[in-house]
Order: sequence, then C-alpha cells, then structure tokens
Amino acid sequence: MITAHSAVATGPDLTAGSDRRYSSEMIIRARIVVTMHGAPIENGAVAVSGNRIVDIGTFDDVKARNAGNTVDLGEQALLPGLINAHCHLDYTCLRGKIAPQKSFTDWIRAINAKKSGLSPKDYVASINEGFEEAKKFGTTTIANLTAFPELIAQIQPAIRTCWFAELIDIRAPERANEVVDAAIKSVGRARPKLVLTEVEGGAPWGLAPHALFTASKDVFHRCEEIAKQQQILLTTHLAEAREEMEMFRDASGSLYEFMKGIGRSMDDCGNETPLGLFVGAPGGRALPHWIVAHLNELSETDFELLERSNSKFHVVHCPRSHNYFGHSPFAFDRLRSLGFNICLGTDSLASNESLSLFAEMRVFQKNFPQVSPEEIFRMVTVNPARALRQENALGQIQPGFGADLIAVPCSTSTDIFEQILAFDAPVSWTMVNGNM
Ligand SMILES: [Zn+2]
Repeated sequence: MITAHSAVATGPDLTAGSDRRYSSEMIIRARIVVTMHGAPIENGAVAVSGNRIVDIGTFDDVKARNAGNTVDLGEQALLPGLINAHCHLDYTCLRGKIAPQKSFTDWIRAINAKKSGLSPKDYVASINEGFEEAKKFGTTTIANLTAFPELIAQIQPAIRTCWFAELIDIRAPERANEVVDAAIKSVGRARPKLVLTEVEGGAPWGLAPHALFTASKDVFHRCEEIAKQQQILLTTHLAEAREEMEMFRDASGSLYEFMKGIGRSMDDCGNETPLGLFVGAPGGRALPHWIVAHLNELSETDFELLERSNSKFHVVHCPRSHNYFGHSPFAFDRLRSLGFNICLGTDSLASNESLSLFAEMRVFQKNFPQVSPEEIFRMVTVNPARALRQENALGQIQPGFGADLIAVPCSTSTDIFEQILAFDAPVSWTMVNGNM
C-alpha cells in the first residue's frame, strides 16, 4: 500500500563533494539510466532512500558513494515512471462497449445510456481496475477526473493520483456554488490518501468543470476563485469536437440541438469560438492554473488569440481517443511554437482501448513523425510533471525527486528513445514512492 508522504522537493546537495557517502537503502543498477535531465547514463545506477532518489551516476560512482544493497536490472533501461495527464478511470469498465459513433453528440448519448446502468459499486470496481492497468503499463502518476468525488474515500490508488472532481451543473446552473463546494468536501476528505507530492504553494488535487457546454460560467468562476485562494489545479475539456465549435460559434449543429433540448441556456452561442469564450471570460481567466484537454478544433482567430495571450495554460493531447473520434488534426507544431506545454493522456476507455502511455506515444509518433522520440517521451514525463506542478519532484530521475521508476528491456543497437517508444508489453519492474 502506498501512503501519503512528505515533500521530496529538496534533496541532498551532491555538489558538496564527490566523496560524500549517503545512507541509502538500495542501489538500482541498469544498462542505461534515462534521467530526462542530461544525457542517459550507460551502466548507470540510482540510489534510493525511503521514498526518494538520493544519488545517480555510473554504477561504479554510485556504488562508491552509497551503502545499500544492489538490485541489478541487467539489460534494461531505467526510466522515470510515466505520468498520464488526462484520464477518467470511472469508465474503465466501458472498454469496447461503445463503437465509434457518427457524431460526438451520438457518443455523448451512448455513454449516458451506459452510465445509467452503473452503480457506485461498479464505479469503485472500475476505478480500481483502472489504477491496476495504468500501473501495469508503467504509469506511476495519473491526473484522474472523477464524476463521483464522493467515492474517492473508498479507493486506495496503487499510484500517485491527482484527483480532479469533475463538475457538471447543466441541469441546475442556479446551484453552481453548491455543486463546487460539495465536490471540494469530498476531495478534501480524501486528501490523506493522495499520493501526489505536496509542493510549495500548491495543493495536489484539482477541480474539473467538465466543459463549456456542460458547466456554467458560475462553476468556472467559482473554481477559479478557489484555485487562486488554495493554489489547486484546474482542468477542463475545450474545443474537443467540431460540433462544439458549431454550437458556440454558429449556434447550430447536433450538439447545439441536444443541449438546447435538455434545457441549457444557449445565450452564449452564436458569437465566439469555444477558445474565445474560455480565454476571453469576463474578468479574465487564471490561465496558468489550467490544464486544457484536447484543443482539437481551433480557428485562425483562435490562433491569433493564443499568440496575443501572454500567460499560457498546459495542453493535453489524447492521440488514440483523438483517432477514435476522427477529430481535425491536432495542431501540435503551431501550439508548440507558441510555447504551450504539451502532454499526452489516454482519456477514458469509453473512447480508447487501454491505459498504456507507450501506445499513446506510438500513435503520436505515427501522426507526427517529425517529432523526436525523446521529445515524445518528455510528453509523458517532464511535461506533465510541470502541468501538475511537480516539476521539482516527478518526471525525472534526479536526487531529491520521488522514487518513481520503471524498467524496460533495451539493447545497444538502436536509439534508446526509439526503443522506449517501441516497448509494447506490461512493465515488469516498477517502483512507486520507493515501493517495488
Ligand atoms: Zn476527458
């Protein structure tokens, strides 16, 4: 069982002298250590004490400086554990249950029909199954949106989790504050079980107004107020589908008709694009707090807006869910050149077939062959750590960082990052928070 732990943001000072010895509990040796901070280290090793990394270097150097037992992983590459920046484990049990639909709106109808048959017990089982699967595929930290924050207290995640309470108030927008405050209570109660690293100035949990079409302006506003007070994280789905663009910009299309049909006020439709509405919210938007999923459908005016905007949010792209829905091509090059921090996520198994970030990296590589494998690997390590404000604690192998490590087989013949992306099996060796 993983327990909550104290900050790992400050590690020992390795610059103090090379003959310094540490009382570490374990030395992990591998053919290559991919630190994501400087070049990979051949015949490398990592010393771990408790739940944190205390030393890295060549095996000989680490062995000379540390006293622990050695775990030799042999012909394997030791990597930082992977970080999934966008997921809904609630729907792990819906794998293969919803065939690709003619439209995004039809998919919403289909998932709503499936959800109506699920009980709280089903959801708890589904979330637990999701945690196990994510861990099996080398994920050690997950940004997980749940529509049932009241169930969090019943769940013991096997990996570090940033819980986001997903908020929808479409049927009762007058109760926006109530909806947000009730969710916060549930996430708050669950906090002792959170295993995300507490970092200075930030709480390791968040709120997720579902989308502009399902969460009211008041929900977005209340969440931002709380984010500013308590430094929590925020995430939402934005500009995901063509029909969302049609709904907001043109006041037409199947999503518009569907939302109108269930009683949503459509006053905000007919002028702005989804991004225009989000970024241009009255009173401004606390952009650096936001982790924005998707951003698939952007107009030229949207790009102008992004170019003019000084503060940047984080972006999560979900390659296989994107393919499932057949969205417009993801504007990776343009968003990257504008300075956005781009991460990968799996989204839920209601639009994907597994929780493997290796599979996401491979599909991304197929869609964007010009992007280097190393940069793609950053999108499941360094970049999402930054989005979750864990850049000094997770996503790299560095002294002082959390001991979240995985190993995959490697050989000398090809580029190590190519080999990482090609890995297509359960991960046989995983350490989360110092526990194997
Ligand atoms: Zn999602």
